[in-house]
Amino acid sequence: MYGDFMGNFRNKLIRFMYGRYGFDQLCFALLVVCFILMAINSVVRSPVIGIIMWIILAWMTFRSLSKNIYKRQKENEKFLKFWNFVKIKWSVIKTKGSITYRRIKDIKTHRYRKCPHCKAVLRLPKKRGRHAVDCPRCHKEFKVRVWM
Ligand SMILES: [Zn+2]
Repeated sequence: MYGDFMGNFRNKLIRFMYGRYGFDQLCFALLVVCFILMAINSVVRSPVIGIIMWIILAWMTFRSLSKNIYKRQKENEKFLKFWNFVKIKWSVIKTKGSITYRRIKDIKTHRYRKCPHCKAVLRLPKKRGRHAVDCPRCHKEFKVRVWM
């Protein structure tokens, strides 16, 4: 009896999903975002986050039940392109010795500026205001301004 019911349910589900788009990487990403928002919301309890969560869930459901498979595939392609871009950016930031990594690491003590003459990136001790710097590479002087 139970097996029959499950089999029936499965058949109905398969028939229902026939010709529909289903689940893809973008759906998965939306689900992950939803879980993250849920975790955040269990602490902050913001109705705005709650609404955003429902919108994301609705969008996810709409996408997987959609019959416009071509359009959904295009969306997923765009998402994958974006995701690759993020991954590359992140790996560049993570690389020790990369300018961005050093910039973040030294943010309290140093500022990085490009010499306008020879384009060398210089690591300058953080000193607020305007001052002149002698480039150690081309020995020309240029002005820098450090806001904060
Ligand atoms: Zn220079």
